[in-house]
Amino acid sequence: MARKNLLILFLLIFVIIFLIFSFNIKSLAISKSKDNDGFSFSILCYHNIKETPSNDYDLSLIDFDRQMHYLSENGFTPLFASEVVDLLKEYSDKNFANKNISQNENNNLPSFNKNGNSENKKFIAITFDDGNDGVYIYADKILSKYGLKATLYIYPSIIFAKERNNKRHYMTFKQINKLIKTGRYELGCHSYYHPYMTKEDEKGLFLNTQTAKATLLENTQIEPKTFAYPFGLYNDKVIEYVKKAGFIGAFTIDRKFVTTNTDLYKIPRFIITKDISFEKFVKIVNAK
Ligand SMILES: [Zn+2]
Repeated sequence: MARKNLLILFLLIFVIIFLIFSFNIKSLAISKSKDNDGFSFSILCYHNIKETPSNDYDLSLIDFDRQMHYLSENGFTPLFASEVVDLLKEYSDKNFANKNISQNENNNLPSFNKNGNSENKKFIAITFDDGNDGVYIYADKILSKYGLKATLYIYPSIIFAKERNNKRHYMTFKQINKLIKTGRYELGCHSYYHPYMTKEDEKGLFLNTQTAKATLLENTQIEPKTFAYPFGLYNDKVIEYVKKAGFIGAFTIDRKFVTTNTDLYKIPRFIITKDISFEKFVKIVNAK
Protein backbone atom coordinates (compact mmCIF):
# COMPACT_ATOMS: atom_id res chain seq x y z
CA MET A 1 0.00 0.00 0.00
CA ALA A 2 2.82 2.39 0.92
CA ARG A 3 4.49 1.59 -2.39
CA LYS A 4 1.30 2.44 -4.30
CA ASN A 5 1.06 5.78 -2.49
CA LEU A 6 4.66 6.51 -3.38
CA LEU A 7 3.92 5.76 -7.04
CA ILE A 8 0.90 8.11 -7.01
CA LEU A 9 3.06 10.81 -5.39
CA PHE A 10 5.68 10.39 -8.09
CA LEU A 11 3.05 10.58 -10.81
CA LEU A 12 1.59 13.71 -9.23
CA ILE A 13 5.00 15.40 -9.07
CA PHE A 14 5.65 14.41 -12.66
CA VAL A 15 2.34 15.90 -13.82
CA ILE A 16 2.99 19.14 -11.88
CA ILE A 17 6.51 19.51 -13.34
CA PHE A 18 5.15 18.80 -16.81
CA LEU A 19 2.41 21.43 -16.42
CA ILE A 20 4.85 24.09 -15.16
CA PHE A 21 7.28 23.31 -17.95
CA SER A 22 4.70 23.42 -20.75
CA PHE A 23 3.21 26.65 -19.36
CA ASN A 24 6.65 28.27 -19.45
CA ILE A 25 7.20 27.22 -23.05
CA LYS A 26 3.80 28.60 -24.02
CA SER A 27 4.35 31.96 -22.34
CA LEU A 28 7.80 32.17 -23.89
CA ALA A 29 6.37 31.52 -27.33
CA ILE A 30 3.67 34.17 -26.84
CA SER A 31 6.13 36.83 -25.70
CA LYS A 32 8.45 36.01 -28.59
CA SER A 33 5.70 36.26 -31.18
CA LYS A 34 4.74 39.65 -29.73
CA ASP A 35 8.33 40.84 -29.99
CA ASN A 36 8.51 39.74 -33.60
CA ASP A 37 5.41 41.54 -34.83
CA GLY A 38 7.61 43.61 -37.12
CA PHE A 39 8.24 47.22 -38.02
CA SER A 40 6.84 50.08 -40.02
CA PHE A 41 8.70 53.20 -41.13
CA SER A 42 8.96 55.68 -43.99
CA ILE A 43 11.39 56.53 -46.75
CA LEU A 44 11.39 60.13 -47.91
CA CYS A 45 11.99 61.06 -51.55
CA TYR A 46 13.19 64.62 -52.16
CA HIS A 47 14.15 66.27 -55.44
CA ASN A 48 15.47 69.81 -55.13
CA ILE A 49 15.96 72.14 -52.15
CA LYS A 50 15.87 75.86 -52.99
CA GLU A 51 15.65 79.17 -51.15
CA THR A 52 12.40 79.81 -53.00
CA PRO A 53 10.67 76.76 -54.52
CA SER A 54 9.78 77.28 -58.18
CA ASN A 55 8.54 73.94 -59.49
CA ASP A 56 6.28 71.21 -58.11
CA TYR A 57 9.08 68.99 -56.81
CA ASP A 58 11.00 71.72 -54.97
CA LEU A 59 11.08 72.23 -51.23
CA SER A 60 12.20 75.43 -49.49
CA LEU A 61 15.36 75.53 -47.46
CA ILE A 62 13.36 76.62 -44.38
CA ASP A 63 10.90 73.71 -44.67
CA PHE A 64 13.73 71.22 -45.22
CA ASP A 65 15.57 72.53 -42.15
CA ARG A 66 12.41 72.22 -40.05
CA GLN A 67 11.84 68.64 -41.20
CA MET A 68 15.44 67.54 -40.56
CA HIS A 69 15.40 69.30 -37.18
CA TYR A 70 12.29 67.28 -36.28
CA LEU A 71 13.97 63.98 -37.24
CA SER A 72 17.04 64.86 -35.21
CA GLU A 73 15.14 66.08 -32.13
CA ASN A 74 12.90 63.02 -32.09
CA GLY A 75 15.64 60.43 -32.18
CA PHE A 76 15.18 58.98 -35.65
CA THR A 77 17.94 56.68 -36.88
CA PRO A 78 18.74 57.43 -40.53
CA LEU A 79 19.40 54.53 -42.90
CA PHE A 80 21.00 54.44 -46.34
CA ALA A 81 18.90 52.71 -48.99
CA SER A 82 21.13 49.62 -48.90
CA GLU A 83 20.67 49.47 -45.11
CA VAL A 84 16.88 49.38 -45.63
CA VAL A 85 17.38 46.36 -47.89
CA ASP A 86 19.71 44.75 -45.33
CA LEU A 87 17.14 45.32 -42.57
CA LEU A 88 14.35 43.71 -44.62
CA LYS A 89 16.58 40.74 -45.43
CA GLU A 90 17.69 40.39 -41.81
CA TYR A 91 14.10 40.40 -40.62
CA SER A 92 12.92 37.83 -43.15
CA ASP A 93 15.89 35.57 -42.29
CA LYS A 94 15.06 35.79 -38.58
CA ASN A 95 11.42 35.17 -39.21
CA PHE A 96 12.30 32.18 -41.34
CA ALA A 97 14.51 30.88 -38.53
CA ASN A 98 11.74 31.61 -36.04
CA LYS A 99 9.31 29.43 -37.94
CA ASN A 100 11.70 26.58 -38.56
CA ILE A 101 13.51 25.94 -35.31
CA SER A 102 12.03 24.31 -32.26
CA GLN A 103 10.68 26.43 -29.42
CA ASN A 104 13.49 25.44 -27.07
CA GLU A 105 16.06 26.95 -29.39
CA ASN A 106 14.03 30.10 -29.84
CA ASN A 107 15.41 32.19 -27.00
CA ASN A 108 18.13 34.19 -28.69
CA LEU A 109 16.09 35.88 -31.41
CA PRO A 110 16.41 39.67 -31.40
CA SER A 111 13.20 41.56 -30.88
CA PHE A 112 11.43 44.00 -33.15
CA ASN A 113 9.00 46.41 -31.55
CA LYS A 114 5.67 46.91 -33.16
CA ASN A 115 5.83 50.60 -33.98
CA GLY A 116 8.99 51.38 -35.46
CA ASN A 117 11.58 49.10 -35.18
CA SER A 118 14.26 46.89 -33.81
CA GLU A 119 15.96 47.62 -30.50
CA ASN A 120 13.66 50.61 -29.87
CA LYS A 121 14.98 52.52 -32.87
CA LYS A 122 12.74 54.72 -35.02
CA PHE A 123 14.04 54.36 -38.56
CA ILE A 124 13.89 56.85 -41.41
CA ALA A 125 15.57 56.91 -44.82
CA ILE A 126 16.18 60.09 -46.80
CA THR A 127 16.67 59.93 -50.58
CA PHE A 128 17.29 62.59 -53.24
CA ASP A 129 16.34 61.78 -56.84
CA ASP A 130 17.88 63.16 -60.03
CA GLY A 131 21.06 64.89 -58.76
CA ASN A 132 19.79 68.47 -58.37
CA ASP A 133 22.39 70.98 -57.20
CA GLY A 134 20.25 72.12 -54.25
CA VAL A 135 21.56 69.03 -52.46
CA TYR A 136 25.12 70.29 -52.83
CA ILE A 137 24.36 73.98 -52.21
CA TYR A 138 21.74 73.79 -49.41
CA ALA A 139 20.72 70.34 -48.18
CA ASP A 140 24.18 69.09 -47.27
CA LYS A 141 24.79 71.80 -44.65
CA ILE A 142 21.50 70.89 -43.00
CA LEU A 143 22.12 67.13 -43.04
CA SER A 144 25.56 67.77 -41.57
CA LYS A 145 24.14 70.08 -38.86
CA TYR A 146 21.69 67.42 -37.68
CA GLY A 147 23.92 64.36 -38.13
CA LEU A 148 21.69 62.85 -40.82
CA LYS A 149 22.54 60.97 -44.01
CA ALA A 150 20.93 60.33 -47.39
CA THR A 151 21.03 58.29 -50.58
CA LEU A 152 21.56 60.05 -53.93
CA TYR A 153 19.73 58.52 -56.91
CA ILE A 154 21.69 59.70 -59.94
CA TYR A 155 21.20 59.15 -63.68
CA PRO A 156 24.36 59.78 -65.72
CA SER A 157 22.87 61.48 -68.81
CA ILE A 158 21.75 64.59 -66.87
CA ILE A 159 25.11 64.88 -65.09
CA PHE A 160 26.94 64.73 -68.44
CA ALA A 161 24.54 67.37 -69.79
CA LYS A 162 25.27 69.57 -66.78
CA GLU A 163 29.00 69.15 -67.35
CA ARG A 164 28.52 70.35 -70.95
CA ASN A 165 26.27 73.28 -69.99
CA ASN A 166 26.69 75.23 -66.76
CA LYS A 167 23.20 76.68 -66.75
CA ARG A 168 21.51 73.44 -65.70
CA HIS A 169 20.52 73.03 -62.02
CA TYR A 170 22.20 69.65 -61.55
CA MET A 171 25.42 68.53 -59.87
CA THR A 172 28.63 67.55 -61.62
CA PHE A 173 30.31 64.22 -60.85
CA LYS A 174 33.00 66.24 -59.04
CA GLN A 175 30.36 67.63 -56.67
CA ILE A 176 28.70 64.22 -56.23
CA ASN A 177 32.07 62.69 -55.37
CA LYS A 178 32.75 65.47 -52.85
CA LEU A 179 29.41 64.73 -51.15
CA ILE A 180 30.07 60.98 -51.05
CA LYS A 181 33.48 61.55 -49.46
CA THR A 182 31.81 63.22 -46.43
CA GLY A 183 30.32 59.82 -45.49
CA ARG A 184 26.84 61.38 -45.38
CA TYR A 185 25.79 59.92 -48.74
CA GLU A 186 25.32 56.62 -50.47
CA LEU A 187 25.23 56.44 -54.27
CA GLY A 188 22.20 54.85 -55.90
CA CYS A 189 21.29 54.33 -59.56
CA HIS A 190 18.32 56.10 -61.16
CA SER A 191 18.68 54.61 -64.70
CA TYR A 192 20.83 56.07 -67.51
CA TYR A 193 18.55 58.65 -69.12
CA HIS A 194 15.41 58.61 -66.93
CA PRO A 195 12.95 56.93 -69.32
CA TYR A 196 9.59 55.32 -68.70
CA MET A 197 11.23 51.94 -67.99
CA THR A 198 7.98 50.08 -68.73
CA LYS A 199 8.13 51.34 -72.34
CA GLU A 200 11.78 50.40 -72.99
CA ASP A 201 12.79 47.46 -75.19
CA GLU A 202 15.46 44.92 -74.12
CA LYS A 203 18.30 47.15 -75.35
CA GLY A 204 16.93 50.15 -73.45
CA LEU A 205 16.41 48.11 -70.30
CA PHE A 206 19.99 46.87 -70.46
CA LEU A 207 21.35 50.39 -71.01
CA ASN A 208 19.30 51.83 -68.15
CA THR A 209 20.36 49.16 -65.65
CA GLN A 210 23.71 47.48 -66.49
CA THR A 211 25.27 50.37 -68.44
CA ALA A 212 23.94 52.98 -65.99
CA LYS A 213 25.54 51.07 -63.11
CA ALA A 214 28.88 50.72 -64.94
CA THR A 215 28.87 54.43 -65.87
CA LEU A 216 28.25 55.52 -62.29
CA LEU A 217 31.03 53.20 -61.13
CA GLU A 218 33.40 54.65 -63.73
CA ASN A 219 32.72 58.23 -62.64
CA THR A 220 32.63 57.80 -58.86
CA GLN A 221 34.67 54.61 -58.24
CA ILE A 222 31.64 53.41 -56.28
CA GLU A 223 29.27 50.66 -57.31
CA PRO A 224 25.65 51.68 -56.66
CA LYS A 225 23.88 48.94 -54.70
CA THR A 226 20.25 49.95 -55.14
CA PHE A 227 18.02 51.29 -57.93
CA ALA A 228 15.19 53.85 -57.98
CA TYR A 229 12.68 53.54 -60.83
CA PRO A 230 12.36 56.79 -62.84
CA PHE A 231 8.81 58.15 -62.34
CA GLY A 232 8.33 55.17 -59.99
CA LEU A 233 7.38 53.01 -62.98
CA TYR A 234 8.11 49.27 -62.98
CA ASN A 235 6.77 45.90 -64.09
CA ASP A 236 8.05 42.31 -63.92
CA LYS A 237 10.33 42.76 -66.93
CA VAL A 238 11.91 45.93 -65.46
CA ILE A 239 12.45 44.15 -62.13
CA GLU A 240 14.09 41.24 -63.97
CA TYR A 241 16.65 43.61 -65.55
CA VAL A 242 17.26 45.44 -62.26
CA LYS A 243 17.97 42.07 -60.59
CA LYS A 244 20.18 40.92 -63.48
CA ALA A 245 22.28 44.09 -63.13
CA GLY A 246 23.03 43.01 -59.55
CA PHE A 247 21.04 45.62 -57.60
CA ILE A 248 20.12 44.28 -54.14
CA GLY A 249 16.83 46.23 -54.02
CA ALA A 250 14.76 48.85 -55.85
CA PHE A 251 12.66 51.82 -54.78
CA THR A 252 9.30 53.09 -56.03
CA ILE A 253 7.25 56.19 -55.22
CA ASP A 254 4.24 54.20 -53.99
CA ARG A 255 3.09 56.15 -50.94
CA LYS A 256 3.28 53.37 -48.35
CA PHE A 257 5.26 52.48 -45.24
CA VAL A 258 8.08 49.97 -45.30
CA THR A 259 7.00 46.90 -43.35
CA THR A 260 8.33 43.41 -42.77
CA ASN A 261 6.34 42.26 -45.82
CA THR A 262 7.87 44.80 -48.22
CA ASP A 263 9.19 43.28 -51.47
CA LEU A 264 12.90 44.12 -51.93
CA TYR A 265 12.22 45.32 -55.51
CA LYS A 266 9.09 47.35 -54.65
CA ILE A 267 10.26 49.39 -51.67
CA PRO A 268 7.89 52.36 -51.28
CA ARG A 269 8.79 56.03 -50.72
CA PHE A 270 6.87 59.23 -49.99
CA ILE A 271 7.66 62.16 -52.30
CA ILE A 272 8.11 65.26 -50.13
CA THR A 273 7.45 68.57 -51.87
CA LYS A 274 6.35 72.05 -50.81
CA ASP A 275 2.72 70.84 -50.88
CA ILE A 276 3.24 68.49 -47.90
CA SER A 277 2.35 70.33 -44.65
CA PHE A 278 4.54 69.93 -41.59
CA GLU A 279 1.70 68.09 -39.81
CA LYS A 280 1.46 65.66 -42.73
CA PHE A 281 5.25 65.20 -42.65
CA VAL A 282 5.11 64.30 -38.94
CA LYS A 283 2.43 61.69 -39.66
CA ILE A 284 4.44 60.22 -42.53
CA VAL A 285 7.70 59.87 -40.61
CA ASN A 286 5.93 58.35 -37.63
CA ALA A 287 4.30 55.83 -39.98
CA LYS A 288 0.77 56.88 -39.03
ZN1 LIG B 1 13.74 60.96 -61.14
